[in-house]
Amino acid sequence: MRIILLGPPGAGKGTQAVLICKHFGIPHISTGEMLREQVSSGSELGRQVKSLLDAGELVSDQLVMKVLEDRLLRPDCAAGYLLDGVPRTVVQAEILKGFLGASKTALTRVVQLEVPEQVLLDRIRHRGGAGSRSDDTAEVAAKRLQVYWAQTAPVAEFYRNEGLLRQVDGVGTVEEVSARILAAVGG
Ligand code: AMP
Repeated sequence: MRIILLGPPGAGKGTQAVLICKHFGIPHISTGEMLREQVSSGSELGRQVKSLLDAGELVSDQLVMKVLEDRLLRPDCAAGYLLDGVPRTVVQAEILKGFLGASKTALTRVVQLEVPEQVLLDRIRHRGGAGSRSDDTAEVAAKRLQVYWAQTAPVAEFYRNEGLLRQVDGVGTVEEVSARILAAVGG
């Protein structure tokens, strides 16, 4: 099971990722989470990326894909994984394709969660302040959405052309949405 979960900020990717990973017993690979860990550990990499995360802008493709590749080479990823928040650009999708080809593995499915823009803004605003993420303010949320439409939405088209994309309605209860995702990945 090698799954990619795509969708705009506020679509519920993180919540759904945890449930889907539990269902299949696969690791949840979130580049955002890995980058935030680097920032809080105060590493050199963390210092390099902090201002980008805080502004809702993307970290460079090469840097993110190096972090991802190192993670995917760890033994717990041998039987599969779920990617959350990556690839975020078509360049990242191409780098991942090269990496998968070199390791003679293939993706099972790419699922895109679809949620109307107004619902996303409401959800993000709701989350803002309550959590510990410094990029959860309304202003940064709007920026992250803008970055999503400009740079990440084309990733769905990339996977549609590869015949891997399934679009799932992301509006509903957590259980309803996860049932739809499981149906889309054939679980
Ligand atoms: P996320 O937790 O997936 O929303 O990611 C939080 C932040 O980490 C993003 O706003 C970006 O600054 C950075 N980030 C996470 N994943 C990527 C990626 N694949 N490419 C570039 N930047 C990323």
